[in-house]
Amino acid sequence: MDSCIFCKIAKKEIPTEPVYEDEYTIAFNDLSPQAPVHVLVIPKKHYASLNELDDKEIMSALFGAVKNVVKKLGISEYRTVINTGESAGQTVFHLHIHILAGRPLKWPPG
Ligand code: AMP
Ligand code: ZN
Repeated sequence: MDSCIFCKIAKKEIPTEPVYEDEYTIAFNDLSPQAPVHVLVIPKKHYASLNELDDKEIMSALFGAVKNVVKKLGISEYRTVINTGESAGQTVFHLHIHILAGRPLKWPPG
């Protein structure tokens, strides 16, 4: 998707310092961090949301990337979030997993 901001990050059309990267995924810091650690993990291929994701290799790669990011950051306590759809808080329609850590996180969320 030409107009998608996360596709541009995946293609390095927007300069980004990756926290982690592999063949299928890239992870980078959120522009507007909601916690001391706030990393986004995305598939390099465009999927508008989790609803569109149909590739088991990429599903596996995304979880693997999350585990690699937290290992790299040296954290073992963190929250992962996938917002799917506007009413769930999704604002960027390229699938992404939030990793949040570094402060106490309340549950349930609002
Ligand atoms: P969501 O609301 O779940 O769709 O999350 C989208 C996230 O993307 C928000 O936390 C934004 O702060 C973040 N974001 C939007 N644009 C950028 C960008 N160019 N680089 C990094 N993070 C971004
Ligand atoms: Zn995209």
